[in-house]
Amino acid sequence: MVFVSLIPPAYRQEGSGRDSNHLSTHPYPILCSEGGGVPFRWSFPMPKHDPMDRTSGFLKKNLETLPPKKRMEYLNRRLRGIIQYAYKHSIAVRNKFDSVGLKPKDIQTVKDLEKIPITKKTELMELQKKSPPFGGFEALPITELRRIYVSPGPIFEPGEADYDELGWDQGMVAAGFRPGDMALNTFSYHMVPFALQMIDNSLYRIGCITIPAGIGNTEQQVNILKNLKANAYCGTASFLLNIAEKAEEMGLDLKKDVNLKVGFVATEMLPESLRSKLEQKFEMVIRQGYGTADIGCLGYECLQKNGMHVPDDKIVEIVDPSTGKQVGIGKTGEIVATTFNKVYPLIRFGTGDLSLLTETGCPCGRTSPRLVKILGRVDQATKVRGLFIHPGQADEVVSKHPQISKVRVVVTRKEHKDEMTFQLELNGEVSQPEKLKSEIEQSIRDVMKVRGNVQFVSKGAIPAEAKKIEDQRTWE
Ligand SMILES: [Zn+2]
Repeated sequence: MVFVSLIPPAYRQEGSGRDSNHLSTHPYPILCSEGGGVPFRWSFPMPKHDPMDRTSGFLKKNLETLPPKKRMEYLNRRLRGIIQYAYKHSIAVRNKFDSVGLKPKDIQTVKDLEKIPITKKTELMELQKKSPPFGGFEALPITELRRIYVSPGPIFEPGEADYDELGWDQGMVAAGFRPGDMALNTFSYHMVPFALQMIDNSLYRIGCITIPAGIGNTEQQVNILKNLKANAYCGTASFLLNIAEKAEEMGLDLKKDVNLKVGFVATEMLPESLRSKLEQKFEMVIRQGYGTADIGCLGYECLQKNGMHVPDDKIVEIVDPSTGKQVGIGKTGEIVATTFNKVYPLIRFGTGDLSLLTETGCPCGRTSPRLVKILGRVDQATKVRGLFIHPGQADEVVSKHPQISKVRVVVTRKEHKDEMTFQLELNGEVSQPEKLKSEIEQSIRDVMKVRGNVQFVSKGAIPAEAKKIEDQRTWE
């Protein structure tokens, strides 16, 4: 078939090429899939049966399936471009380079990024106070902006006239969103950039119809879903659960009276138990994305549910937060991101979130590395024998043993060696405490990759205000 390109200019970026498997964009959606393409036919209201192929297809296939070496060349090329640009147009970026005697030509590859100091959110806030509103990171005059967003902090984010970020679009297509879908967007439209700038624009560009519902008003949201037969959901998973419970309370059948097929969730941790509960209740597919208000999408799940693909318009490094050096594939560290955005070119932005990357092939065909999962915040983590441990891991160990009611991980140092002790309160008497102890110690090794001792303590021994990980080491 002849593919008619409906890709707006913003999509025709360097290196992306013309993509015959590209999902076309608004205003005349055509769904193109492997081996031909399935024309999308408009129908309203949406039929309950779902004739669309939501299981394959890419937003930008050429880019998403680049062989690893080509991907690295592509990223390095775009990195050199944005570094040159940002140094020239952003005062804050130039100051950062000058502070360590760097010039743009010193940054040729992703590895070279290590030379640039990381910008943490706290520093961004301080810089914004000193040099309002954007701390000098903006690379164009304020009069050329379309909006200014205000995130908690407060922290200001510039909203460009031609929003062209790729990541959320890629994520929604990977989740199964298709042109013509009608999406209830329940993220907050108020002040912050996520619902309006990022999700709303992305839905528009992949050819979906958006209901800008915002948060709250659960009963009204249920009625909207029922009356409009919306088949897509954007919002938090916990709010979708509220919607489900409200709908059931109103006597509705979630599979018959509500037509949800796909969901894209973000902004909070997604427990597998909650995902599968919702997927079963609605007979829908739910996938998640990860990012920040400052820098946009940094990861999205495909149908394989095996981590979050890094979008093609970001560089994600995993670094040791104390040194800023890249830790390598498979090792835990802080997520540090660089965008190619020419309006707000944040270079090496420290998210404060912990994760690790994998590069093992994904059956979906996408070749980008994946964030395995978000493990928690850097400031809650600590290092034991050179490896990061964090509260999420302690919870994971506990979840494997229903006998445990409360945990505190105490890190101490004996003869210059780190020791980690899991203090555990139990739900009741156990018949074979030694056996349980060795089982838990095995779980600790499996989850944390580091050895830990188990100490059972009496109920109430762990104070209510105790931190989950308590570092008692002294370094005299
Ligand atoms: Zn995948």
